[in-house]
Amino acid sequence: MGSGWVWVVVFNVVTAAAYLGIVLFIVRGLRRTGQLRNNRLALATAAIFVTCAAHHVLHAVHLLAGSDHHASHLGGSDAGVISIMRESMGGGIDIAVTASTALAGVVYLGLRRSYGPLLRSPAMFDDASEARYRQLAANLPHTMVFLLDPDLRFVLVEGADLAAEGYNRRLLEKKLLRETMPPDVYAELEPHYTAAVAGNESSFDWISSRTGKTFQVRARPLRDGSDRIIGAMVLSEDVTAEREAKSELDRARAFRDAVLTASPDITTVTDVSTGNLTWASRSLRSLLEGPLPDDLPPWHGLDRADGTEEDHLETAVLADDVDRLRTADRQAASLPDGESLTTRYRVRGADGETRWLSRRSTPFRRGPSGKVTEVLSVVREVTDFVEAERALERAALQDPLTGLPNRMLLLDRIGSAIERGELAGAAAAVLFCDLDGFKRVNDTGGHDAGDAVLVEVAHRLRSVLRANDSIARVGGDEFVLVVDAMPAEHDSSSGTSVGVAEKVAQRIRQVLAAPIEHRGRQYVVSASIGIVLARKGTSAQEVLRDADSAMYRAKQLGKDRIELFDDALRANALERAHIEQTLREALDSDGNCTATLSVVSQPIHQLDSGRLVSFEALSRLQDASGAEITPERFIPVAEDTGLITRLGKRVLDDALAMLVRWRTAHPPTSAKDVPVTVAVNLSPRQAQHVDMSAVVGAALDRHGLSPEDLVLELTESVLLESGSSMLRQLGELRDGGVGIAIDDFGTGFASLRYLATLPVSAVKIDRSFTATMTSDSTSSSIVRAIIALARDLQLGCVVEGIETTDQLDALPGSVQGQGFLLGPPAETPSNTWERPGVVQGAS
Ligand code: C2E
Ligand code: CA
Ligand code: CA
Repeated sequence: MGSGWVWVVVFNVVTAAAYLGIVLFIVRGLRRTGQLRNNRLALATAAIFVTCAAHHVLHAVHLLAGSDHHASHLGGSDAGVISIMRESMGGGIDIAVTASTALAGVVYLGLRRSYGPLLRSPAMFDDASEARYRQLAANLPHTMVFLLDPDLRFVLVEGADLAAEGYNRRLLEKKLLRETMPPDVYAELEPHYTAAVAGNESSFDWISSRTGKTFQVRARPLRDGSDRIIGAMVLSEDVTAEREAKSELDRARAFRDAVLTASPDITTVTDVSTGNLTWASRSLRSLLEGPLPDDLPPWHGLDRADGTEEDHLETAVLADDVDRLRTADRQAASLPDGESLTTRYRVRGADGETRWLSRRSTPFRRGPSGKVTEVLSVVREVTDFVEAERALERAALQDPLTGLPNRMLLLDRIGSAIERGELAGAAAAVLFCDLDGFKRVNDTGGHDAGDAVLVEVAHRLRSVLRANDSIARVGGDEFVLVVDAMPAEHDSSSGTSVGVAEKVAQRIRQVLAAPIEHRGRQYVVSASIGIVLARKGTSAQEVLRDADSAMYRAKQLGKDRIELFDDALRANALERAHIEQTLREALDSDGNCTATLSVVSQPIHQLDSGRLVSFEALSRLQDASGAEITPERFIPVAEDTGLITRLGKRVLDDALAMLVRWRTAHPPTSAKDVPVTVAVNLSPRQAQHVDMSAVVGAALDRHGLSPEDLVLELTESVLLESGSSMLRQLGELRDGGVGIAIDDFGTGFASLRYLATLPVSAVKIDRSFTATMTSDSTSSSIVRAIIALARDLQLGCVVEGIETTDQLDALPGSVQGQGFLLGPPAETPSNTWERPGVVQGAS
């Protein structure tokens, strides 16, 4: 053997060692990846290299043993190796090897190319990395880690939950997914893992049939340092708690949404520092309906384009209300928890109309410092409510026909006029105007005409006022003007406040003088005006009452005139107050009170026979000091104050009781005796009372009397103005047998013929005729005419106020008479009058 031979031996030994190194490298890699048994290519390659190594060793041994004909053997042996390689590698790797050395190098390079990355992978094969991997995976909370190779073989399985889920690391690792999982689980997992190996990430929830836990499984490709996919990494995280919390949250959200949707209100959360809405249950649009205009000012600082619908919730807030809303936010933020604050504000709706919203705000979220940073508000539309409220307010304060303030508002205005006057050292004047002849307008032109006249009068009255003055309508045809404080420094009579007020009153008379046209007809009205200066220290009510008194006097003195409230009227007003007080006391009294109401009676006799036919009940009032107040004074007060109802019942009761007493004291002497009756006066208000006939009937029953025992006296004017209800009631009473007498007949304007069409039974000729009939021929002829007419109409006839025998003598005996001569009003009716002498029996 030469030195060449030695080198060949050395070469063969080195090559054999290299082949064995390659084999060990492949086998170690295959073990590490768990592919030892399954990677046929790698195993075949290893086998070839072992063969090659063996061949080189044999060759070297052969050479060392001195054999020289190795060349032919080598050629044959190498051809055999090539054929084995071809068979095991199929067409996969195209390697041509002609010599064992070249074969070894080329195959090695080929293997590095196709298996190198896998074999080199530190995650897969590096012991230290694997240990780190395992430690990391084992410490990930609630997470299991699975590393799989591209064949979906478990390479690494680690995690805290493994045991609980029934996985055994040792049993899984190195096994195929298919081998370890039940078919249904495999079918579920496989697509995700395959996708991961193909480079796609996927994530899905997986519920463990064993523990019922929910895992979020994330499968993603596993890459080596040069970004090649070397398998799949699967992280399976126990998200049971999160999922339960989420579904709890979802339920809570769904509940909240359902509640908020069902509610007609909008709930919002506002950032206190910026005023921006941070959350809203719905948009303003849904509250107000219809799209919002685009030109709304974004006052809250949110950009419309970027903001969601709810950001626009308050964009429509009217500029005037924005500050109020911001202030309310801050106030609400400083409220104690659980308390709320309500703010009303206006927004412009889509239709441009102003809508009212009401917002109740309460502290909501606190910042780290404990300061409230957000307030929660519940917003609802209250437009209808506000409008109704306003309408009510207007109705309470305003006369719907003329739009003028009514009594309530007027009192307020008078009050402030008095105050202003006090400040300015001047006095405001109040003018009370009552239209004359308004009733006639209604009667002739109907309600329409009446309304039109009132509206026109209101208009004209306004025209005489200055800016600060005001006007109100306080009754059907009553207007009150408040003429603002006028300087009191002028001394001449025309320059004083009174003078100015009188000038205004004169102007009123002028503007009312022109006829008012309505539907082609002309109406003329005038006004009776009462003036009062609103003096310091008087109340608005007193001022109005005084102006009313002055007006009343203007009416009494002939209408269409101006009267100033003066001391006489003041005294009158005071007196009326005193009478009212006395009346109340007397009516409320239980008998031992100082103010008393009693009933006296005045007899009515048949003039020829002198027989007592009736007596009239007349009421008497004494005040606490024992002073007598005449019916002429207290009856009107009773009427005005409504006390007449109680007074009327009391008098009727007393009168009937009186009759019963009288009858007991004077039992009939023969069957022919016509029973004595009692006459009771009915004032206008009493007569108009809806219950009038019922009250009368009940009183008769109470005293066991029949309707024929009672005569009701009503004045002409009451009968003339009687409405249908009163006429019906009078008819009922008359039909029942109650006598109805026309009192004070002749003082009104009614004709007896007309009155006789009403349910009346008698007339009482007013005492003013009686008083003058002996001196005035007109009076005497009137009296005679009435007597004759009454006889014609078969009405009874009573002549009132007979004071002298002359008067008595001038009257026919067929009538009945009443008067001081026959008997003054007395506590007990007398039966004693005898018609004196000559006229007895005359006709
Ligand atoms: P009247 O119904 O015309 O009553 C008659 C009035 O004339 C009574 O006045 C009576 O005292 C008075 N009188 C009687 N005879 C004479 C006489 O010869 N000469 C004069 N000058 N007067 C005579 P009185 O009691 O003051 O009543 C005044 C009016 O008050 C009554 O007028 C009546 O309208 C009303 N009145 C009285 N009591 C009541 C009552 O209880 N209810 C109502 N509603 N009105 C009443
Ligand atoms: Ca009377
Ligand atoms: Ca009378």
